[in-house]
Amino acid sequence: MSPSIDDSSLIDLTRKVLEIVSTHNRWRRLETINLIASENVMSPLAEYVYLNDMMGRYAEGPTGNKYYQGTKYMDMLEKICNDLMCRLFNAKYADVRPVSGTVANIAALYAITEAGDLVASLPISAGAHISHRKVGAVGVLRLRTVDLPWDPETLNIDLDRAVKVIEEKKPKVVILGASVYLFPHPMKEIADVAHSIGALVVHDSAHVLGLIAGKVFPNPLENECDIMTASTHKTFPGPQGGVVFTNRMDLAEKLDKAVFPGVTSNYHQHRYPSLAITAIEMLKYGEEYARQIVRNAQKLAEALAERGFKVLGEPLGYTRTHQVLLDVSKLGGGAKCASLLEEANIIVNKNMLPGDKAPDNPSGIRIGVQEMTRFGMKENEMETIADFMAKILIEGRDPAEVKPKVVEFRKEFTKIHYGFSIKDFENIKYCNIISLLE
Ligand SMILES: *Cc1c(COP(=O)(O)O)cnc(C)c1O
Repeated sequence: MSPSIDDSSLIDLTRKVLEIVSTHNRWRRLETINLIASENVMSPLAEYVYLNDMMGRYAEGPTGNKYYQGTKYMDMLEKICNDLMCRLFNAKYADVRPVSGTVANIAALYAITEAGDLVASLPISAGAHISHRKVGAVGVLRLRTVDLPWDPETLNIDLDRAVKVIEEKKPKVVILGASVYLFPHPMKEIADVAHSIGALVVHDSAHVLGLIAGKVFPNPLENECDIMTASTHKTFPGPQGGVVFTNRMDLAEKLDKAVFPGVTSNYHQHRYPSLAITAIEMLKYGEEYARQIVRNAQKLAEALAERGFKVLGEPLGYTRTHQVLLDVSKLGGGAKCASLLEEANIIVNKNMLPGDKAPDNPSGIRIGVQEMTRFGMKENEMETIADFMAKILIEGRDPAEVKPKVVEFRKEFTKIHYGFSIKDFENIKYCNIISLLE
């Protein structure tokens, strides 16, 4: 901190911090159309219980047998979360202790590899997450990579060539799943060839976990994948966190040790109540929610194409997930387009497309409709969003002119659907820690 800050300016700085949070909250929650594909909002009940005492506690150790005292209630919740996850995903083993999807991937890879082993994964430009590659977790674990071939026509893994790569290079692990994920990867087919050479398949479901729970996307655990990892906050609308699954009890034991003492110490246990509530909400409303997400994504893709955008995957029906992918290389590139949209309060992210070399100036924009779906938007609203985007990027209108219309439109969609509200339950006052301090 700069030495010029005296006590009175510290108070001013505190005010500034508070003002920034308040502005952020209103902007991102009430005034923007958020189309970031990896984000979501929790239900009001899940959010209410998020601010609890467990955020400051330690609970090292396996579920049901922690090394610290004072952990009995957190342990009960950890077990409830794991059981709910097993039920939702038809899994024999689930572990919600990883604090993020990346940590879940590190744990899974650490459990089943040795330094120097070969991992087959997609290039980042074909949708892989950084943790699948040398720049990320795979490199941190000192693993080597071989590329899974990609087919730009089918926007999917090139199965025939992938089979050859796996048979020839004999990786120890094949990673499926992606951050740009429009169509399900050929899980069974890849698992068959992987297993034939003694390799394991990890499916990273970070993006599609909520769609799998809602039964609109194939469940990797029912399609011969050995391990599934995920984030719990993308299409699965829970608190930020990670989870690992398997149906193979020989792997479960290794995963358990890899998570702790391997790659975690405390588990950010304050997530657990919110995670359990979200899992229950997904058991209750998940199918309806997931079906609407896919309908909305397909509608938005179609509406954008009608307005002159180059939308990937047209002959394939555009998408089978929450995502829509645009090629905006002719409209100034992903960075410029995303920033123009942000000026109008439409939040998307620039993204690499297959063939792109430079991550800073990619040709694509990645869109996800899951959060707006939770705020109650349906097919009609997707048309409106496509109109806004076309005004700015196709017609070249000033974003400042579109922004007030976006804010006005967003005002009709502030209630979160497919989950519990605070009023649905009684006597929950002390579930939120602030009520103890009053
Ligand atoms: C987002 C993402 C992750 C990382 O998840 P975090 O929870 O942000 O660490 C891992 N894999 C894929 C495919 C992702 O898209």
